[in-house]
Amino acid sequence: MTTRPTYPCKRAGCRFTRGHRRTSDGQYKQLRMCSPHCRVWDMRAHRALKNGNADEAAELMRLSALLDARRSPREEVPGIFEDTRPAE
Ligand SMILES: [Zn+2]
Repeated sequence: MTTRPTYPCKRAGCRFTRGHRRTSDGQYKQLRMCSPHCRVWDMRAHRALKNGNADEAAELMRLSALLDARRSPREEVPGIFEDTRPAE
């Protein structure tokens, strides 16, 4: 067997498979998400939920639809990386 198992991205609704990262000792490490976009989206979603931020939640719903419409996990989605400050 030469194929590695693939798992779907952790972001709900995402149909891409998770990314891999080559570690310094030559191993492949499976990431939780297909792309940095999904990782940031998930982080923002957790924060919006925690803070009860309805505006951010609405924006995330909009971004989620754009993420779902991508043809590749590397495709850019404007607005995703705009607010990545840690929660206060
Ligand atoms: Zn994803």
